[in-house]
Amino acid sequence: MLKPARREREDITLIAVSKTHAADTIQPMLDIGHRVFGENRVQEAQGKWPELLERYPDTELHGIGQLQSNKAEDAVALFDCIHALDRQSLLKALAKAMDKLDKQVPCFVQVNIGDEAQKGGCPIGEVPAFLAKVRDADVPVAGLMCLPPAGVEPAPFFALLAKLAQDNGVEGLSMGMSGDYATAVQLGATHIRVGTALFGARG
Ligand SMILES: *Cc1c(COP(=O)(O)O)cnc(C)c1O
Repeated sequence: MLKPARREREDITLIAVSKTHAADTIQPMLDIGHRVFGENRVQEAQGKWPELLERYPDTELHGIGQLQSNKAEDAVALFDCIHALDRQSLLKALAKAMDKLDKQVPCFVQVNIGDEAQKGGCPIGEVPAFLAKVRDADVPVAGLMCLPPAGVEPAPFFALLAKLAQDNGVEGLSMGMSGDYATAVQLGATHIRVGTALFGARG
């Protein structure tokens, strides 16, 4: 088999991003055996997932969106992995929730890879110190995550995230969406977050 990215299929987790889609749109993907999904809003996920999870208990649910600290406990209760850990206040809230619920949820540290004022994410220069704080708080580090700036070639940003991960001894790389997942995989993504390419446009 030709492997243009020189990667093994099993080394990349496809997160089917089902945000805004109703349970009956998600159902067919569960029926064919897909078991990893992503949602960006806690409240929306709480509404549609409990029933689906009851029927497909081996499903992994990833929280991929910006998270408010006051939603940390709900997020820890519902998600198996969180992709948007980007600041001290959220770290404290997540650590407290994991302690309270006695549930360790691996977290990706989101990096503001394009240094964009309007975007969340830890500033690049603060990644080593923040990772140290995450480890100190006993919150499991899944890796680094980014959302590159819109409208420009994403490859340099993916490459930078991969370099940051390597420099900081971090394994996972959550990067790549419908428009750029192939580039992300070539540059080392371990988790790609794909919505539109699987479910069609969001309403
Ligand atoms: C919506 C979303 C995605 C999926 O985007 P598509 O372009 O629909 O594949 C990926 N990551 C995050 C953080 C998102 O909010």
